[in-house]
Amino acid sequence: MNEVIEVSYTGDLLAHRRCPRAWAYEKHVGFVPYEQVQAMEGRLLHHAMEWLARRYAEDGVLANRSELADQLEHYYRVLRARGIVTAFSTREEVLKRILDNLYKTKSDSSKMQRPVETVIRGAKHTEYQLKSVREVIPESFAGKKKILLTGIIDLVLQLPDSLTYQRLWSWDDREELLGHVESQEIQAKSGDEEIWDFKATKAASESQIDYVRQVATYAALYRERTGILPERCVLFFVNERDPEDRLLVVPVDDELVEKALEWTVGQVEQLRATTIQFAKGPVAVAGGSLLERDKPVGERITEELKKQCTACGKRFDCDEYKAFLKGSPGRLDRETNPLRVDRS
Ligand code: SF4
Repeated sequence: MNEVIEVSYTGDLLAHRRCPRAWAYEKHVGFVPYEQVQAMEGRLLHHAMEWLARRYAEDGVLANRSELADQLEHYYRVLRARGIVTAFSTREEVLKRILDNLYKTKSDSSKMQRPVETVIRGAKHTEYQLKSVREVIPESFAGKKKILLTGIIDLVLQLPDSLTYQRLWSWDDREELLGHVESQEIQAKSGDEEIWDFKATKAASESQIDYVRQVATYAALYRERTGILPERCVLFFVNERDPEDRLLVVPVDDELVEKALEWTVGQVEQLRATTIQFAKGPVAVAGGSLLERDKPVGERITEELKKQCTACGKRFDCDEYKAFLKGSPGRLDRETNPLRVDRS
């Protein structure tokens, strides 16, 4: 028997937090992952940042808006050819949104926004691969002895200039890794090492707490690999319209990143329990967000999960989604009746 559980932080752990039922069908039965439907914008954004950073590192050039637009048009076609689609927006909308969020739109649309320019100039690594093997107690992980945890840090940078951030994650409970966002000026100095993670969502994302724990865990894995604990982590919510709210600083220290790692291992234990439950009987795995598990059936679908449900290949027999749509009979029939014939 293979003794290792392989877990990707985004593809498994965050997907399992979003909906264990959808995750189990994707992972173990081969249903098309939600990321395939939803990922276009995120992939374009990551590609944009990587391409801009590489261009700067190779030629010392900060690409302008129209050069990036050409590159994104090209990459959009590559993604389409690979079967990645935009589920909820047109190509023009997606590309414009990304470009507007990276470049100044009013005074001089050819120039990058200040934080974007700073990180492009300071990028040490893009798409930095993390891999970590941890021993675990087999009794808690249904016989498995090790976890292979993988993740990708979007950007590791050493600031070329000072930078002022306006929003700080303030830890209220370091044991439970809970906290809140505060408006506060944080001065980062030239030479500070930071890790950044890009999120193609708005700053008020309901998954914010999971993203904070994710970057804190990445900081632990980065320290494990390099011996360096980053000065701070930064979440970049690229679809946030208000530039002041787009960046969130997550402060870390040695003790806190250890806690984050422990929390992550606890999540892998839950994920393993879902796998075992699914193997015994797939119908036993309930749908809905893990963050809402204390609520009754029909109330565990969050605003963000709602979008995933409309594209989910397992919505037709999902008790959670059906209960959620109970008050809208038309939608219930339209979205969950596999035999429905649309004559419009
Ligand atoms: S329909 Fe929604 S709640 Fe049900 S399995 Fe799919 S994503 Fe999860």
